[in-house]
Amino acid sequence: MARLRALLPLLLLTACVARTVVTVVAEPAAVPQAAAIVPALEGSAAEGSASAAPAEGSASAPALEGSAAAESVAPEPAAAEDPTGRHPPSQACHYTTYQWSMKRKTGVNRRTISKTFGELTGDEIDPNDARCSVCEENQVWLRPADHGWPNIKPVRVCDAYASKLGKALEEMAAGGAFTLIDLEGYRPGRTRGAVVDGMRTQMSNHGYGTAVDINARHNGLYAGCNISPVTLEGIRRCRLAVGGAWDPVARPLTSVVRGGIPYRVMTQSVGWRWGGEIGGGTRDLMHFSLTGF
Ligand SMILES: [Zn+2]
Repeated sequence: MARLRALLPLLLLTACVARTVVTVVAEPAAVPQAAAIVPALEGSAAEGSASAAPAEGSASAPALEGSAAAESVAPEPAAAEDPTGRHPPSQACHYTTYQWSMKRKTGVNRRTISKTFGELTGDEIDPNDARCSVCEENQVWLRPADHGWPNIKPVRVCDAYASKLGKALEEMAAGGAFTLIDLEGYRPGRTRGAVVDGMRTQMSNHGYGTAVDINARHNGLYAGCNISPVTLEGIRRCRLAVGGAWDPVARPLTSVVRGGIPYRVMTQSVGWRWGGEIGGGTRDLMHFSLTGF
């Protein structure tokens, strides 16, 4: 017992140091560039980084002594804080971005940004979920082949949502009445918002990995389309701007419709909204995100 008492301060110290280490280890620090490392970054690893806080709490019994020791052992870094709250401020952040040209109808001004998480500003952080950012280091690969869809290519999504999205794909596959033919995720371009000098200026939710497009070939983005709810008759008066025409009668297995399998899974299991039910004149029928935009 005396021996245990003697060891106690050391144990407490270890717990505090472990706290710091947990935060670092749980980070998806390895940039998901190679498909080979994808599995390690998925699922539980992604959730682990999102839930580092509970692990911290579990070491909280000796709170008073522990926090005192923490200050002497691991002082807070003086550098700017990481706005995502999940990465060391000095950790590198990279992303390749572009702007949407209204005239050319394509991405232009493509460039790669390198900075640190501590230097992220403005709309480099998802305004709806600060855990997600434009950084590739914040993204993990979601492999549909691991979730019931062997022929669909991997996409990147914000690590905070990877586990939920993987389960969502499994639910879509289990339903049997829906077929996934393509999927898009992370794509950090300024493709929304005000147009300045012929260029869009606002970061898409795809830029944070907090949006997916499902079957774009059969669920297009329509403009001039302030209709609610979306119906086949109504959509025919709208202008198809991106993707393929929507016709759930002709293509019931691949269309996204209110109440259908992808709609139910994405809105209920993931908690995202459908781009077919947003305000304004755009109906983005392939699109799901936190806000629907
Ligand atoms: Zn989209």
